[in-house]
Amino acid sequence: MFGLIGHSTSFEDAKRKASLLGFDHIADGDLDVWCTAPPQLVENVEVKSAVGITIEGSYIDSCFVPEMLSRFKTARRKVLNAMELAQKKGINITALGGFTSIIFENFNLLQHKQIRNTSLQWERFTTGNTHTAWVICRQLEINASKIGIDLNKASVAVVGATGDIGSAVCRWLTQKTGIGELFMVARQQEPLLALQKELEGGHIKTLDEALPLADIVVWVASMPKTMEIDISKLRKPCLMIDGGYPKNLDEKFQGNDIHVLKGGIVQFFNDIGWNMMELAEMENPQREMFACFAEAMILEFEKCHTNFSWGRNNITLEKMEFIGAASEKHGFSAIGLDKQVKPLPV
Ligand code: NDP
Repeated sequence: MFGLIGHSTSFEDAKRKASLLGFDHIADGDLDVWCTAPPQLVENVEVKSAVGITIEGSYIDSCFVPEMLSRFKTARRKVLNAMELAQKKGINITALGGFTSIIFENFNLLQHKQIRNTSLQWERFTTGNTHTAWVICRQLEINASKIGIDLNKASVAVVGATGDIGSAVCRWLTQKTGIGELFMVARQQEPLLALQKELEGGHIKTLDEALPLADIVVWVASMPKTMEIDISKLRKPCLMIDGGYPKNLDEKFQGNDIHVLKGGIVQFFNDIGWNMMELAEMENPQREMFACFAEAMILEFEKCHTNFSWGRNNITLEKMEFIGAASEKHGFSAIGLDKQVKPLPV
């Protein structure tokens, strides 16, 4: 059995969904009420893969919302309670979606193995980051040529290069894809220097330096909503892969030879018959999902019950190849530009 732990993109959105689901006791509550709300198992589902393997799974809403990020103890409790619920339901492998994996790592939740009378078994959980990184790399490889970018000569900026997903993307691009130049962007210098040493290449740049030089920009950092970028300074054509969460770059950039692709999203070959991805705001919720969620499904299809993606900067090319091959075998594909380009009116 696979599990997906998710959350709403905002408090307002969470209240709207709670009302739709009939959870009236919290739908009308303020943020303090939501801070005390327990996780909810929202839906059970059965899924059949492209090679005929059937699995069962559940979606658990952690009742966390991004407005709680500054409330350290609340955020921690929300993630741990959702994990406890997944384990108590006997789920073999559960993906930590949205901010929950970042909270797990950044708030060092490994120290909190014991939740009431449940000792959390880490091997039952995965961040899903290996599949997310692989999907983002495939999206880059498949879509660049569609807008006239020659990958072998292309300059690629990875914003969030030293993160778990970003470092895996940098590894793949330099060792598997073969690109012209790599620009690595993050705030802290030390991890950037360590990554440069590991890759034996790549240029460390600030965001302002990298953007005007990049044919392709991979965003794998949660950027502040207030971030302002001067579109006139971007290269054209330019491919922007929005791998961060929440996905809001298309509001800022799309149009006039700037192509924004929702990064880390996959499509299943068949309708799944679930409601949970409507909650996760997918454009085609019967088939689309975050790649991190799909990783739990793939691991369940493969009966690979292990914390496949875990910790920081442990993603190897071998693991990316394994999860990528299994992803395609079971009927997942990365979403591409042809499906979703919506140029702005000139
Ligand atoms: P990490 O916390 O491991 O890495 C974040 C990276 O972003 C670090 O390199 C960090 O470096 C950098 N960063 C953060 N803020 C800024 C900033 N203001 N300017 C420049 N760089 C910045 O995160 P993950 O790799 O786990 O996840 C990355 C993103 O991907 C997140 O937004 C996450 O929510 C999203 N995600 C998306 C998924 C999907 O769509 N399918 C699935 C899983 C995650 P530094 O602190 O030095 O700046």
